[in-house]
Amino acid sequence: MGDHTMTSEWPQYGDDEAKALLEVLNSGNWGSTSGDVVATFQQEFAEYQQAGHAICLANGTLAIAVALRAAGVGIGDEVIVPPYTFIATASAALFVGAVPVFADVDADTHLLDPAAAEAAITERTKAIVVVHLAGRPANMDAFTTLGAKHGLTIIEDAAQAHGAAYKGRPVGAIGDLGTFSFQSSKNITAGEGGAVLTDSAELAGAVYSLVNVGRVPGGGWYQHEAVGYNLRLTEFQAAILRVQLRRHPALQEVRERNARLLTDLLTDVDGIQLAPEDPSITAHGRHLFMLRVRNRAAVLESLTAAGITRVSSGYVPLHRNHAVLQEAQAITTRLGQPYPEAPCPNADRVSTDTIWLPQPYLLGTEAQTHAIATAITAATQAAD
Ligand SMILES: *Cc1c(COP(=O)(O)O)cnc(C)c1O
Repeated sequence: MGDHTMTSEWPQYGDDEAKALLEVLNSGNWGSTSGDVVATFQQEFAEYQQAGHAICLANGTLAIAVALRAAGVGIGDEVIVPPYTFIATASAALFVGAVPVFADVDADTHLLDPAAAEAAITERTKAIVVVHLAGRPANMDAFTTLGAKHGLTIIEDAAQAHGAAYKGRPVGAIGDLGTFSFQSSKNITAGEGGAVLTDSAELAGAVYSLVNVGRVPGGGWYQHEAVGYNLRLTEFQAAILRVQLRRHPALQEVRERNARLLTDLLTDVDGIQLAPEDPSITAHGRHLFMLRVRNRAAVLESLTAAGITRVSSGYVPLHRNHAVLQEAQAITTRLGQPYPEAPCPNADRVSTDTIWLPQPYLLGTEAQTHAIATAITAATQAAD
């Protein structure tokens, strides 16, 4: 098998993944209860993100739910989340019987606004889930301060932010807990998978237990000290993840270089608004390249016609999602609690004018990146 590293193709893989998979196959240890590949990857990933502990699990959605439960968040508790994100950020709270409460994002960065989050705090608030959307680290100084001031657990949803760093510190264990996804589209992937990071031995033990049917590290097979799920990763997934982690730094360099070039080429184009530079972002995860444009429908149409077909029109904001609202209100109604609803005008606005390029577009050559910038510039000018 040759190296399958075609430009803009994703995933990128080669002989090393094939070899690692066959090693697991031939070892006969396909699960992490007998093999040690998951354990090894956990150590490597914890080191990569400079966290004390990493616990792998089935996916990034359940990683958030497990992080919430490990932090003691449960029935009727309120969890503050941004509305402009993937649904898992909010549905995870519902899975543990908690109520997702939406606080608005900053329109320039698409990230949860610390002031809006603080305004949403009530006596029932237990946690804030901060999302490093697109790979851009959120204002962790503000959120850790909020957490300390109000006694709240801060969870980083870093599903899009492998390798990202805030003021020199990799994301994931800056807050109390951080969650990652290794789903197909993410910058490190095994098709599916996730991880929870934390510096706290106590929280790591709680996460381990939730992922491993309530077992305790070093405890007996039928010794269930808590009620836990079974969310274990397989050794096959970890084998691929170990190789993908080794590939990540070089791929990030390419993404970073191309994202910077795109930023330079697009920053003064009339009708395009990019997120501002922020010196506290010392490494950007480069999962999505986001822009706000005028006349989005026309821009999308021109881009598709120019062959940029995987451009996205972004999220429908979750404070408008009927499934999430119905379930949240079902919980509050049963408990006789009010459902705290605040307007999220910035999320509404960015949901009408945002587009993004998924990360494979950042893996091309310099010439291809110039071509993408030219197409985007032409599309925005034609749409005016
Ligand atoms: C992908 C993603 C998730 C969920 O991860 P899965 O592994 O797909 O369950 C959660 N939050 C954000 C922001 C994501 O992008």
